[in-house]
Amino acid sequence: MLSDLTVNASAPARRTISDKYRATYPEDVDTLQATLARSLSGTSDVVTEYEQALSGWFGARHAVALSSGGAALSVALHAVGVEPGDNVLLTPSCPLCTVYPIIAAGAVPVFVDTRAHGFGADPDSVRASMTPRTRALIDIPMWGYPTEVDALQAITRELGIKLILDLAHSHGTTLHGQPLSHFGDVSCFSTHERKLLATGEGGFLLTDDDVLAKRSRDYSRFGNLNGKDFGLNYKLAALPAALGKNRLRSLAAQIDKRRENARYLLERIHHPQVREKTIVAGGVPNYYFLNLELRFADNAAFIDYLDDLGVPSDIKRYGCKALYEFPALERYRTACPNAQALLAGMTTIPVHPGITVDELDYIAACINRYEAI
Ligand SMILES: *Cc1c(COP(=O)(O)O)cnc(C)c1O
Repeated sequence: MLSDLTVNASAPARRTISDKYRATYPEDVDTLQATLARSLSGTSDVVTEYEQALSGWFGARHAVALSSGGAALSVALHAVGVEPGDNVLLTPSCPLCTVYPIIAAGAVPVFVDTRAHGFGADPDSVRASMTPRTRALIDIPMWGYPTEVDALQAITRELGIKLILDLAHSHGTTLHGQPLSHFGDVSCFSTHERKLLATGEGGFLLTDDDVLAKRSRDYSRFGNLNGKDFGLNYKLAALPAALGKNRLRSLAAQIDKRRENARYLLERIHHPQVREKTIVAGGVPNYYFLNLELRFADNAAFIDYLDDLGVPSDIKRYGCKALYEFPALERYRTACPNAQALLAGMTTIPVHPGITVDELDYIAACINRYEAI
């Protein structure tokens, strides 16, 4: 009894840490007001201005604004020539959002394993999974940690397939000083409200290839209704585009603050079974979420412990597991032991700019106090 009281006296009071960043953008209202006087469709100049701002920010030759990150993947698959019956390689450690567009295209998702230390596709697994029907590889850097996209660019070129990057988590993540999008044939982004650049719903793709850019734009506009080229409507409307253009101006500062918060927290975590996930050489994460590698006998118990103390984990929120373990995807099962071990051996911690120093201290205290039973 007495010892219980002693422990409680030194335990920090419970808090609820939000994993959702609700930034305030004071100029949003004026921006929307001014946009209402202009054309509001997806072919509005407002959208063109947003696309120019995106290609400037990311240093890409072309940006195509689209209605969602999922739409960006569907458009990218079409642009690189994926047809019904083709195979598309991807790692199974990503969200369901990445695989459904492959199935919707009539193509077959083929799961390749990750490397042992991170979520990038393993080159040997890529080679071993190649068939004459393989058209593309989608690599998905999770939670904003860079993957070896430079090596994947070289391998996909050698194998004659296209490299699509799903960078929905990775705005501002760099490898060797370049944004990750620099290495993909097509790079897809989401601007869903939970992502770093938020327009409610929305997405875009980037490419340096003129032909892929034209195919993407045409497809997302019903083939320009010319009756020759097939397409669907995946255009982004002008109001979210105006929001995106306005909010893009604070993206770099937001990422700086995330990096600062992650550094602050990591300096205060002193638990022998917890450390940051390995960052690939030459890479800098954007810290969409801080990733911690866990070495407990029961990692799920640690995640539950933090969750009970108000520190949420994406692993728990989304029930993250290899995609072929979900009922809808069982028929695509392959052996991906690295991906399974990575997901089972980690958790995510929010470090967005809405988290205060007190909250970071609280998170560190919760982690450091944990004793596995
Ligand atoms: C959010 C997300 C998507 C889907 O983006 P939407 O804009 O919600 O369609 C795709 N891939 C990944 C990795 C995501 O996190």
